[in-house]
Amino acid sequence: MDLPDVIELAKNTEICRMCKNVVVGKGNLSAPIMFIGEAPGRNEDEQGLPFVGAAGKNLDKLLEKVGLSMNDVYIANILKCRPPENRAPLNEEIKAHTPWLLKQIEDINPKVVCSLGNYATKFFLSGCDVDLMDKQPGITSVHGKVRMIELHGRSVKLIPLFHPAAIIYNRSLLGEWEKDIVIVKKEIGQKTLI
Ligand code: URA
Repeated sequence: MDLPDVIELAKNTEICRMCKNVVVGKGNLSAPIMFIGEAPGRNEDEQGLPFVGAAGKNLDKLLEKVGLSMNDVYIANILKCRPPENRAPLNEEIKAHTPWLLKQIEDINPKVVCSLGNYATKFFLSGCDVDLMDKQPGITSVHGKVRMIELHGRSVKLIPLFHPAAIIYNRSLLGEWEKDIVIVKKEIGQKTLI
């Protein structure tokens, strides 16, 4: 599908008629790392940018700690529009919005895709087959593990990470999260001195 078609498909969903802003992404369009979250929240919907609320600030801190900048990353979400009351994404919404995400990944062509949390991780582990997402292992068992996946005929490294919001609620995950981002950095050929 071409870009206008994938945009049209997403914009036909009800959440796209209800949101204030369609949140496409932010960062470097030639970045070696792409982070993929779940869906915009209230702040993201207001500002039209992903990860600008509390979870985003937490992600910024992690990147700063290991010396990654916005030049190294592009950040997007599974859904481009905020589900009302931040409810979980529906399968039909994921099906309608992810062709746009896959087109972004194809254009940016990152070395590493980091899925943040369960929704994004299960989407990629299912081979982008939304009906198979339920059958995939959860983030707790796959975070920090590097695997090759095929996206539009190209191999790309997938490294699942805990969602930045999960670290706010469960501080005991912080150490693992920091170890995992060091793995990501190594995969793009950067050493980390921490
Ligand atoms: N959580 C997400 O998954 N994405 C955002 O953009 C903000 C919070």
